[in-house]
Amino acid sequence: MKNLILIAAPGAGKGTLSNDLLEKYDYVHISTGDLLREQVAKGDDLGKKIHEFQVAGKLVPSEIVYEALEKKLSDKACDNGYILDGFPRNIEQAEEYEKILERSGRELGTVIVLDIPKEDLIKRITGRFTCKDCGEIHNIYSEELKPVKEGVCNKCGGELTQRKDDNLESFEVRYQTYLESTEPLIDYYKAKGVLHVIDSSQGHDYTLEQAEKLISN
Ligand code: ADP
Repeated sequence: MKNLILIAAPGAGKGTLSNDLLEKYDYVHISTGDLLREQVAKGDDLGKKIHEFQVAGKLVPSEIVYEALEKKLSDKACDNGYILDGFPRNIEQAEEYEKILERSGRELGTVIVLDIPKEDLIKRITGRFTCKDCGEIHNIYSEELKPVKEGVCNKCGGELTQRKDDNLESFEVRYQTYLESTEPLIDYYKAKGVLHVIDSSQGHDYTLEQAEKLISN
């Protein structure tokens, strides 16, 4: 399968789409946000440093991200194809990624942009609850993704938690960073002829359906 890169503003649905694709296809999910949060959970000095950037809504220094990513890409399981979620975040990372691809003998693949208005993002961010055990993403404002029982995962019954950076203040910083640094990647990948845009404001089933069409092409 072709490797996928998901580009979208915070809350647009990269994580949800990734989880949906993983249920049906043999992809490896590489979320740089998750890789960094795993490091934070270790509680060491590096983890503490990363946490400060994340809670403030700022990008973590790229070197830290490159190291975690390259390590992950060395995994044989990625040979079948992987979904890159949250990386690259700016042109500099996209350029470095091409060097990483060369070193790891992997292909760029297809780039998917999830397009959605800012008003929708705020609801998605403030209403997002993730399962501690299985990572399933819920949203209290979405008919499709609402937890049936408050605080309990629909899929595995685990406890739902809210991310520390899912508040309005941090969202505004993340959104501005997206506009300034990440959005320019759309033209960057358009020029390479690998870009596809999905209107993710049409809901989670629609987004999955469109993404599946791209995978099968
Ligand atoms: P979202 O896209 O909803 O903001 P992520 O889980 O992708 O959520 O990222 C959360 C935080 O992790 C970001 O705000 C940033 O601090 C850090 N992060 C994730 N990916 C990168 C990256 N490629 N470069 C730098 N920082 C990153």
